[in-house]
Formats: sequence, C-alpha cells, structure tokens
Amino acid sequence: MDQRAAIPVTLPRGNPTQSYWQLEPDEIADLQSTTSLPEKADTVIIGSGITGAAVAFNLLSNGARDIVMLEARLACSGATGRNGGHTKAASYRSFLDHEREYGTATAVKIARLEHANIRAVHAFAKEHGIQCDSNPCGTVDIVYDAAQWEADQRAVQAMQAAMPDDDAAKYTIHSAAEVREKFFCGRGGDEGVCGAISYEAGSISAYKFTVGVLKLCLDKKLNLQTNTPALRLEKLAGGGWKVETPRGPIRAQKVILATNGYTAHLWKRFQGVIVPLRGHVTAQRPGQGLPAGGLPTTYSFVYAGGYDYLIQRRPGRGAPGAGDVVIGGALVRGAAEGASEFGTTDDTEFDDIIVRALYNSLPRYFGDRWGADHADGRVRRAWTGIMGYSPDGLPFVGEVPGEKGLWVAASFQGHGMVLCWMCARALAALVQRRGVDALSDWFPDVYKITEQRLGLTFKGRLHV
Ligand SMILES: Cc1cc2nc3c(=O)[nH]c(=O)nc-3n(C[C@H](O)[C@H](O)[C@H](O)COP(=O)(O)OP(=O)(O)OC[C@H]3O[C@@H](n4cnc5c(N)ncnc54)[C@H](O)[C@@H]3O)c2cc1C
Repeated sequence: MDQRAAIPVTLPRGNPTQSYWQLEPDEIADLQSTTSLPEKADTVIIGSGITGAAVAFNLLSNGARDIVMLEARLACSGATGRNGGHTKAASYRSFLDHEREYGTATAVKIARLEHANIRAVHAFAKEHGIQCDSNPCGTVDIVYDAAQWEADQRAVQAMQAAMPDDDAAKYTIHSAAEVREKFFCGRGGDEGVCGAISYEAGSISAYKFTVGVLKLCLDKKLNLQTNTPALRLEKLAGGGWKVETPRGPIRAQKVILATNGYTAHLWKRFQGVIVPLRGHVTAQRPGQGLPAGGLPTTYSFVYAGGYDYLIQRRPGRGAPGAGDVVIGGALVRGAAEGASEFGTTDDTEFDDIIVRALYNSLPRYFGDRWGADHADGRVRRAWTGIMGYSPDGLPFVGEVPGEKGLWVAASFQGHGMVLCWMCARALAALVQRRGVDALSDWFPDVYKITEQRLGLTFKGRLHV
C-alpha cells in the first residue's frame, strides 16, 4: 500500500468514462460565468462537486460575496457526478471502531452527523424543488459472511445501547427466511445469506442535486469557471494566495480545496494522506422477475472483505432510465483484491474484471427473482470515478495547519453523500467564524485537520 499511496496524484484527467448520470449534461456543464477569469476574488473554491457546491451555498447564504469556483473539467464531473446515488450511512459498521478510537460520545456524534446529512440532503432537494430523483426510503444490508454477521449484530446492539431511541440507531434484524420473502434474495443464485439489517437511507442523482445547488449559488452571484484547472497555489508575502490556471492567475484572501481525491496534486502534504481510490459503478436494466412496482428498498450485499451497493430508479412507463438498477462496488473482486485501484486518478477507463463481476452480480443476488433479462439486454453502462481515502478513515475539515487562508473539506471515504453536506456546513462556519461554538454540539472534533492527522500512514480502506 505504501507504493500505491506514493503515486503522485494528478489533476483530473481529460475524457473520463461517461457516467450514466451525465448522459445528458446539464446546461451549466461548461459554464464560465465571465469570459475572462477575474484577476482577484475574496474566495476561490476549487472543485464543483457536492462539497464545493455546499460550501459555496453556505457562504453565499450567510452574506459572503465575490466567490469564484474553479473546476478542472465540466461542472460536477468528479466523484459526485459519477457515484452510486446511495444516501446510506451504515453507521453501525464503523461504530465500534470509532468508539474504541475516540470514545462513545464521538462515535455517537459521527453516527448522528451521517444520519442528519442524509435527511438534510433530501430535505434540501424538496425545499428547493431540485429535480434529482430524490427518494428517501429504506435500505437493507444482506450479509453473506458468518463472521461479519456476528460482528454486525454486536455493533447494532452496542449502538442501540449507546443511543437508545435515536433515529440514527433504528435498525431491524432479519433472518435469512425473511430476506427471501421481503427482499427477494437467497433463493436460486447465491443462497448463502446469513441475515440482514434494514434501516433508513435513500437514493438520489447526486449530479442533478449538485447542479441544482450550483444553480442556486449562481443566482447568488457565484462566478463558476469550468474547464479551468487550478495548477498551483502560492502563498503571497502580504497575505492571501495566488492560484495559477491556464487562463492566468487569480488572487484571493481565502482558497478552499473541495478537491477530494485530487487534493494532493495541489497541496503536497496530502500526498499519501488523502489517497485516491477508483470506484466502479454500472447501470443495468431490471430483470423481468423483479417486482413491477420496484424493489422495496435500496441494498448492500456484504461479503468477506467487501460489499456491493444498489439503488433502483423508480419504475414508470416512458421515463428514460425508469426502473434501472445502479450497482457499484466489487473492489475486492478485482485483480489482487483491487490493489491497483488505490493511488490511481484514471477515471478514463475501468477494470474489466470488476465490471464483469458487477454485471454478473444481479442474477446471483436475486436468484430466481431476477427472471429473464430485459428484452433490450441487461447492461446499460459502466463508469469509474475517483474517491479520497485517509489513514484514519475520516474527512479533513478546516484550515490547513500553518497556512492562513487555505481551507479544506476533503477525503470522504466513498461515503460523501452522508458526509459532504454537513462537513461543508461546518467548514463554512469555520471560514466565516459564525456559530463556531455551536459546532461542538454536532460536528466531531476528530474530523478537523491537525498536524498529527497529516502525519498518519495510509494502510488501506477501513470499516469494510
Ligand atoms: C464510483 C463512485 C461511487 C460512489 N458511490 C457513492 C454512493 O453511492 N454513496 C456515497 O455516499 N458516496 C459515494 N461515492 C463517494 C462520493 O461520490 C464522494 O465522496 C463525493 O462525491 C465527494 O464529493 P466532493 O465534492 O468532495 O468531490 P468530487 O465530487 O470529486 O469533486 C471534486 C471536484 O474537484 C475538481 N478538481 C480537483 N482538482 C482540481 C483542480 N486542481 N482544479 C480544478 N478542479 C479540480 C474535480 O474535477 C471534481 O469535480 C462514490 C464515489 C465514486 C467515485
């Protein structure tokens, strides 16, 4: 892993695989709000994914002005525009580790933040009428590994003991027989189901959601500059920063890195600390045996060493993509258990073995209930995207130590739809020194960037 973590992180690459969610790029995909890049701004945000968009929205809503957002490729073309669309926390799976490392109060705070993040994203989409397939619903984790099943039940019990009556800890345990009846898995195909855990989650087009947030920011005078990579950062002697781009430099008092897996390209101290990991997702047409009204929940399929995750778009006659199943994961099914996916920023292609595993997984998981493939064939599309992972499995949020005016919110562990929104809210509060005292009520201190955390060594993915 040391060697993979040491691969120099690049800028986002040209010509990435086309994500299913971006088949119809939004009208703002290649927007440059002004024809030339402003020479200066109060704040430059680098990155137009959910984090950059949410930071911008929070800052602008609290009175900030003169914000320029730089995006290397098209708007929201990083992980956010290419993810699995799952708003699902699975907090119990990291709870015991967090409790051991940081104590019960922090483990509880993390679980609450994740749950609050999911609800806040869906509530925001509703409040602002963002058309993004927002679907708050239930989810189920179907577990195929006996040791994992034991550990999962212990974790759920510990969490419920630590936070009784808390919505974030509401889990229902299901037997293998219930899984066959309620969730259609385990008869035919892979029958080795140990049991399942269901709870609150949701699904969404993160691309459409984030583009919607960016549009609200544009209404508040955000200057969005797509196709404008930030090449280098330079700290200015008199205070503030210079950001070099191919379209000339821009100076700013504050620079915010919302660059997730790519952060180390701009700020070398993150090399080996925020490590890119390439993820794979596929979109497939539903089997003819699945319920016509759609699957009852979203899913994860948990096996030794890894998991796959699935959402289904709402079925409905005529709507493009209606009923499509979006399933991602399969990292450890790749060569050398997916080792070569770490350290790479290459989302211009995918690993054939992983994609094949995802294509073959649906009839395996749903067995007899998958039925014949759709008349037009099962496979629609496969794509990749780049995530950011840290040694302790936590995001980095705050001002980079010793670098006044350089801020970061990054490293969301393939889990950004349950972290970015609240982390962006916290970062905006820190930048604007607004409500900072209240942060300790809901924002885990362990997410804040520190010298000590920057010195940790990356060993691989945690909490799988
Ligand atoms: C394949 C895949 C599937 C996933 N599935 C899920 C899921 O189902 N649920 C979930 O919770 N999470 C999922 N994730 C993780 C989630 O998508 C991310 O954690 C989240 O989108 C991170 O958002 P972000 O805004 O921080 O980063 P990004 O969306 O990656 O945005 C960063 C942006 O910064 C830009 N950028 C980087 N460097 C520069 C530079 N130097 N100059 C200018 N621009 C730059 C990039 O082009 C990019 O647009 C998945 C991720 C991937 C890749």
